[in-house]
Amino acid sequence: MTLFNPEDCLILVVDDVKLNLQVVANILDKVGYEITLVSNGYQALERVQSARPDLILLDLMMPEINGLEVCEKIQSNPELADIPIIFVSASQEQEHLLKAFEKGAVDYVTKPFHAAELLARVRMHLELKYSRQKLKKLLQEQVALVEELERLANTDTLTGIWNRRYLLMTAEQEIKRSQRYNFSFTVLLIDIDHFKKVNDSYGHNIGDEAIIFMTKIVLNHLRQVDCFGRFGGEEFVVLLSETDLEEGVIVAERIRENINNQHLIFEDKQIAITVSIGVASYNFADQSIDAIIQRADQALYQAKNQGRNRVIANNS
Ligand code: GH3
Ligand code: MG
Ligand code: MG
Repeated sequence: MTLFNPEDCLILVVDDVKLNLQVVANILDKVGYEITLVSNGYQALERVQSARPDLILLDLMMPEINGLEVCEKIQSNPELADIPIIFVSASQEQEHLLKAFEKGAVDYVTKPFHAAELLARVRMHLELKYSRQKLKKLLQEQVALVEELERLANTDTLTGIWNRRYLLMTAEQEIKRSQRYNFSFTVLLIDIDHFKKVNDSYGHNIGDEAIIFMTKIVLNHLRQVDCFGRFGGEEFVVLLSETDLEEGVIVAERIRENINNQHLIFEDKQIAITVSIGVASYNFADQSIDAIIQRADQALYQAKNQGRNRVIANNS
């Protein structure tokens, strides 16, 4: 697998001796690499910024500012730190070699070198660099994919609000939080009144529109921390964090009233929708969300029996 073409790779060569620059340039040019040459450390720092090479061949011993300092400066810039730096030097002292690696060099070639050795090292480090980039990209794609799958697994396709699975998961967390911090939370169970009639009179598509219309109104009347989802069919649940029964009833009443006051406009028709809401709070004896939803369901049943379009709280 080829990760790169030499023609697409720019190599910066830094050496204070013109002849050395020429020798390296010839070797690289024969293989097809793009080359940019400079003859001192300051120029090297400028050129790295302006040309953004893919790799640097850096002379170690240079007057004014030496290769080690140049390397250190490049490495300290996060935008440039990924560029592999190979030192090219006549110095064979162990101390220099160690320092070069300390400063962030990826490799070290001693002069005189064979053209084949220099090319092999250049090629290897470019391959490593491009593999790293490719892996990073693949990883980012995987992360994005997992996030998208998680979103799909947790949301309702029709409305985009949370689904039953996510609601139940959040509710169990809410119970743990309430136990730990000793505060309550409240559940609203919302059901559209005579929804079968909406479907029968206007068709299933308008029924769907009515569901979307209703969820938008509910979302407008909730806080960011509240969790609103579709429990199934035309039944919805709101989890109100750190909210007692009385406060929950106020929120429920506001939702009911707003749905009652607005109409879904379809062609020249105004479609009225009402909801009934059962309200129940976590009472510290509850071990699971089922018990709370069951109490909210009893209240909802009463709301339906008492004529619909109303909020009933379960005090038990
Ligand atoms: P009540 O006031 O007692 O709640 O009466 P209702 O007609 O709303 O209750 P029922 O449970 O008898 O009917 C619910 C209807 O909701 C039946 C079902 O076809 C419809 N429904 C459930 N999910 C959807 C949906 O996603 N889209 C549409 N258009 N209709 C749905
Ligand atoms: Mg209904
Ligand atoms: Mg129903």
